[in-house]
Amino acid sequence: MNLYRIKLSDMMDAMKVSECPFCFIDEAYYQLYFKRLLDGVLDENYHEEWTKGGGFCKDHSRMLLKKGSATGQAILYKYLLENWKDNWLNDEFDCPVCSKIQKDLIDSKKVFMWGLKNYPEFLKEFKASNGLCKGHFLSIYKDLDEDLKKIVEDVQEKAFERLKAKLELLLRQHDHNYAGPKDSESLRSWKKAARYYVGGVDKKFKV
Ligand SMILES: [Zn+2]
Ligand SMILES: [Zn+2]
Repeated sequence: MNLYRIKLSDMMDAMKVSECPFCFIDEAYYQLYFKRLLDGVLDENYHEEWTKGGGFCKDHSRMLLKKGSATGQAILYKYLLENWKDNWLNDEFDCPVCSKIQKDLIDSKKVFMWGLKNYPEFLKEFKASNGLCKGHFLSIYKDLDEDLKKIVEDVQEKAFERLKAKLELLLRQHDHNYAGPKDSESLRSWKKAARYYVGGVDKKFKV
C-alpha cells in the first residue's frame, strides 16, 4: 500500500499544477531511469536491459538524446552496434522503458480509481483539475464504471471550456486592435491545448 500512497500523493501534486496525473508519474519515472542509465552505463543490469531490448523505441531514444552525456551515450550505442545484425535482422526490439511504463500504468489506474471512490480529498482535487491527456483518458475511461465515467467526462468538459476561453482570449490579444493587458497564461494556452493530444508535462516540470 505504500507505493499506492506515494502514487496518490504524486497524482494530487499533478492535479494541483494542472498536469495530467498519469503523465506526471511517467515523467518522474523517465527522469529517474535515464539518470540511472547514464550514470550507470557500466552497470551490468542496465547494460543488459539496454542491449537485450535492442535500445529504446523512437520516442524514448529521443528523450534520452535530450539528456546529453556524450560519453554515456557513446558507451550505450557502442554496445548496440556490436549486436546490430542480430537485433535488426531478427526484429528483436523491445523497449524496456515502454514495458515498464505500461506495467506501471496498471498500478496507477488502480490507484486513480481507488482515490476517486475512497478518498474524498483526492476526488475534490481531481474535480478542480484540468483532467487527463487524450492518451491516458482513453486508456483509463474504458475500465471505469458508469459513476466514474461521468465524473471524468465532467472534469474534462469543464477543463476544455476553460481552455477554449483562454484560446479565444489569446486570439483577441493577437488582434492588432487589442489594447488591454496581456494575459500570459492565455498566450501559452495553445501549447497546453496541444499537450492534451501529445501527452507529457510542461517544460517547467521536467528536471
Ligand atoms: Zn497523460
Ligand atoms: Zn519506449
